Amino acid sequence: MNQQIAIIGAGISGLSTAYTLVNAGYNITVFAKEFSPNLVSNKAAAFWFPYHVRNDVRAKDWCKFSYSFFEQLIANIATGISMVEIIKAVKPNVQDEDNWLNYMPENSYSIVPQNKLPNGYAKAYLAKVPLIETQLFLPWLMQELQLLQTNFIQQNIEDIQSIATKFDVVINCTALGAKQLCNDATLVAVRGQVLLYEPDLINQIFIDNQTPSYMVPRKDATIVGGTYEEGVDSNSVNENDLKIIQAKAEEILPAIQHKKIIGSWAGVRPFRQTVRLEKEDNIIHNYGHGGSGYTLSFGCANEVLHILQKEIE
Ligand SMILES: Cc1cc2nc3c(=O)[nH]c(=O)nc-3n(C[C@H](O)[C@H](O)[C@H](O)COP(=O)(O)OP(=O)(O)OC[C@H]3O[C@@H](n4cnc5c(N)ncnc54)[C@H](O)[C@@H]3O)c2cc1C
Repeated sequence: MNQQIAIIGAGISGLSTAYTLVNAGYNITVFAKEFSPNLVSNKAAAFWFPYHVRNDVRAKDWCKFSYSFFEQLIANIATGISMVEIIKAVKPNVQDEDNWLNYMPENSYSIVPQNKLPNGYAKAYLAKVPLIETQLFLPWLMQELQLLQTNFIQQNIEDIQSIATKFDVVINCTALGAKQLCNDATLVAVRGQVLLYEPDLINQIFIDNQTPSYMVPRKDATIVGGTYEEGVDSNSVNENDLKIIQAKAEEILPAIQHKKIIGSWAGVRPFRQTVRLEKEDNIIHNYGHGGSGYTLSFGCANEVLHILQKEIE
């Protein structure tokens, strides 16, 4: 295939798109202002969960696709992907929203018995989801793409048209960068802060997405979150917020009080009411994945491939 494709952005959206397109035979050049490990994509927890994406009717198929894609990678331990049990818990007097279960390929879950509920919760679901250890997966993806002859160029793109005139197609995976690049005022920065505890404290993911609280068993740390701060475009952590995260975690899992905190970080989610995944002349936009960039990633990349095959060739 002779088409020359430029992808702008090297976070999970850009890299998953590059991986999908290069495997379909396209020639790919990835432009990015910054690469891993300096991206929002390095700050994700990152487990499969449709978080703040259920406004977008297309998201269900994308989430399902990504789930199956990640599941296929678990045999290769170098990817850092594993299937892990998740407890999704609901506080008393909070409206239970269980439609996330329909976003998984198989509707296989169980209800946690009352005597096994986490502290302070009225209901909980048990399911299995992909856990993506970003510290392993992003370098693996970069390495695979290099082996597949993908070109990487570090460059801040100020004018998308300047790239669009040099390539057959440009895929725009710039996340919050699209605020400037496309004058997209509908993009909202949403800061998320987390604490890092020592590893091996838990063997299940825990999430209460309403408060929001989550705990994630990575090999290098137990990630404990979090916050969902709309309009906060800052990568810095706030000590008071970290104390609140710590207090919430101690309520859910009292044993964590005696465990060591080894770090903290903050990242800014690129939220949009609906993901911008559409074609505009010879540009295909793929940005605005909010708190679900990994959950949507390969599903959105596959949609980009469909658009490319259907409308441009
Ligand atoms: C604390 C936290 C926890 C999270 N947990 C999860 C989770 O458990 N599961 C999940 O699915 N998601 C999670 N997310 C969300 C996820 O991290 C994001 O949705 C995802 O990382 C967005 O990826 P991206 O590739 O679109 O953006 P980014 O990672 O921000 O990458 C954008 C890329 O575009 C480049 N770029 C931007 N503008 C330009 C320009 N003008 N020229 C050149 N390059 C440009 C950047 O340099 C970068 O390479 C979490 C996020 C946070 C903050």
